[in-house]
Amino acid sequence: MSSTHTDIAIIGSGPAGFTAALYASRASLSVVIFEGMQPGGQLTITTEVENYPGFEKGIMGPEMMDIFRNQAHRFGAKSKYEMISKVDFSKRPFTLQNDHGVAYTADAVIIATGATAKLLGVPGEDTYMGFGVSACATCDGFFFRGLHVFVVGGGDTAMEEANYLTRFAETVTVIHRREEFRASKIMLDRVRSNPKVKMILNSSIEEYVGQTEGNLKKLTHLRLKNLLTNEVTDVPADGAFVAIGHKPNTELFNGVLNMDETGYLETKGKSTYTNIAGVFACGDAQDSVYRQAVTAAGSGCMAAIDAERWLDETKAGHSTIPAAL
Ligand code: NDP
Repeated sequence: MSSTHTDIAIIGSGPAGFTAALYASRASLSVVIFEGMQPGGQLTITTEVENYPGFEKGIMGPEMMDIFRNQAHRFGAKSKYEMISKVDFSKRPFTLQNDHGVAYTADAVIIATGATAKLLGVPGEDTYMGFGVSACATCDGFFFRGLHVFVVGGGDTAMEEANYLTRFAETVTVIHRREEFRASKIMLDRVRSNPKVKMILNSSIEEYVGQTEGNLKKLTHLRLKNLLTNEVTDVPADGAFVAIGHKPNTELFNGVLNMDETGYLETKGKSTYTNIAGVFACGDAQDSVYRQAVTAAGSGCMAAIDAERWLDETKAGHSTIPAAL
């Protein structure tokens, strides 16, 4: 076998990808993990993970992903810090090409490309991204020491970011478009009882307003709209953190793999089989419902077992396993 061929190629390096790598490499299969643009996935930009079983006292997201990676490497899985930008699933072995044009082949592919934070898409967002606007409190919170920041969203991510930002900011204001919250009660209660946090409900950001002089840009205000009265007001703001959910990273598979209207990959029944035999999907790229590290890891394990059994059956020439979705 050439050095560019493996039994299983895994695209993505979050809990799903590394768990798939761990299981597949422990089954004595050769495994390459293409770690992509964000090695370790979304948990590398989160703070403390308190809900992953086994870590009784909680653990920082980046540290947890290092453990996942090391555990997979211990059994022989190899990481490539490369981005896959093209796939050919029309014939086997499957071909994956990185963004420098280097091609790899694999007998089976596990897709664990995860999801990415969504943005509002309103005027000023692109202009002030990195200049006051951010989608990651862990990455950028430090820059807002003693300042006044806002968090948009009403889910657990927004609550987690709001709480985290109170370590640095003088005030943190949550802006949410309605009165009911999607966030879990424990996260919401924690935010509500934090004296540094305020809430503006039934409101949306219509525009990010700031000053631009040459390369110097700075967010100064948020143009808010009260959705009940339609009243528009400009509120002084040093920072705005967007925390309104995620979209699956599946563009690479458009027209190749079956997906729902929002881009989540479709898998067959309780399995990780996609519509192409030998290509499996797991984690947030195929789960729009649970989206937890622990469920992603669980489905990564399922994908490795599915791939391993499928490879065995295929090599043995049996056909008891469904060919495709
Ligand atoms: P969610 O989809 O749960 O929440 C997104 C929030 O953003 C909602 O309140 C939604 O409003 C709002 N929103 C969406 N689009 C817009 C828009 N265009 N303008 C304004 N507001 C908008 O995403 P999260 O990222 O918060 O959470 C995803 C999953 O991850 C959940 O299952 C969550 O429990 C989990 N999670 C768990 C954590 C933990 O336990 N430590 C931490 C973070 C996440 P509306 O409600 O009106 O639709």
